[in-house]
Amino acid sequence: MPRPILATVHSAALRHNLNQARLRAPDAKVWAVVKANAYGHGIERAFEGLRSADGFAMLDFDEAQRIRALDWRGPILMLEGVFEPRDLELCSRLGLWHTVHCTEQLDWLAAHKTQAPHRVFLKLNSGMNRLGFAPTAFRAAWARLNALPQVEEISLMTHFSDADGPRGIAHQVAAFETVTADLPGERTLCNSAAILRHAGSPLRGEGAVTTLAADWVREGIALYGSAPDHPENTAATWGLTSAMTLSTRVIGVQSLQAGDTVGYGSAFTADGPMRVGVIACGYADGYPRHAPTGTPVLINGIRTRIVGRVSMDMVTVDLTHLDASVGVGAEVICWGESPSTGAVLPVDEVAEAAGTIAYELLCAVAQRVPFLVV
Ligand SMILES: *Cc1c(COP(=O)(O)O)cnc(C)c1O
Repeated sequence: MPRPILATVHSAALRHNLNQARLRAPDAKVWAVVKANAYGHGIERAFEGLRSADGFAMLDFDEAQRIRALDWRGPILMLEGVFEPRDLELCSRLGLWHTVHCTEQLDWLAAHKTQAPHRVFLKLNSGMNRLGFAPTAFRAAWARLNALPQVEEISLMTHFSDADGPRGIAHQVAAFETVTADLPGERTLCNSAAILRHAGSPLRGEGAVTTLAADWVREGIALYGSAPDHPENTAATWGLTSAMTLSTRVIGVQSLQAGDTVGYGSAFTADGPMRVGVIACGYADGYPRHAPTGTPVLINGIRTRIVGRVSMDMVTVDLTHLDASVGVGAEVICWGESPSTGAVLPVDEVAEAAGTIAYELLCAVAQRVPFLVV
């Protein structure tokens, strides 16, 4: 029998979360962001739940090929554009739309031979200072693209650094509006946090005021059921449903007395009689090794905590306050939904306890973990 660990991808949750984005951005088309193998869910596994998206966005060319191999004929956007001139051939062949964020990409495009002109997303660095043309260079880049026979259509794009937090997006929206106000073309600004928190705010462009959702929103983490601004808000308050459940079972039980310790480094000491369960999940499965004692876990749908250090293949959990019948074989939910009880442990809570974000936990689910799509 294989180890009892399992990652379940919930197609209905992906569909539901996508619809939530549509409710918040009713006039926008939705890019389902499936970079990093659909945030660890697996592109092919997530595809069924996301196929009603208007397009797929990612940054690995092999992932774009995998989406085309699923017979997706619709839009695909390469969020970082091409990494070398040869990638443009793939864009031509597979009809990939691509971001242009730097002069080198412009030069490569100008030298590219293609029958089918490309659709490009010109990226403005509106303040994040990662990818994109500075406001002072943006219009020249637009004019140059506009003069290229290789380019069919130019869209306008920027990315927010603080859509999930107190600094917010106003300074970046102002920069975007100033630089792009009279330029034609579709616009895309919002990631998940901006869709949830700011999609309805106004955006000035091309003589008209629209909303920040604009023509396209780029939804990543919220599709997968995590609140990008946790703990200020939760998946439940945003109406999002967990798209991945990482489950396993109890494979051993120990009874401890006061003073007994648990696991490597004796990192946890019992202060009284305790029952400790051993679960078949460890850091080699993607469970965060730095998750401390107290990190939540569900056993038979009941919330308890991990104790001691996370090992490669196992984690120890506190069973003391659970029914004495809870032992080997009991259902364990590391995050997601308990199939037996319907209880939910949001991945955001596990991530917070481990000092990280749900993005990292979801992306880190290891190759050795078997997946099931429901
Ligand atoms: C990853 C990414 C997104 C999606 O971000 P989420 O916070 O997961 O919604 C949107 N746009 C760009 C450019 C990205 O790289």
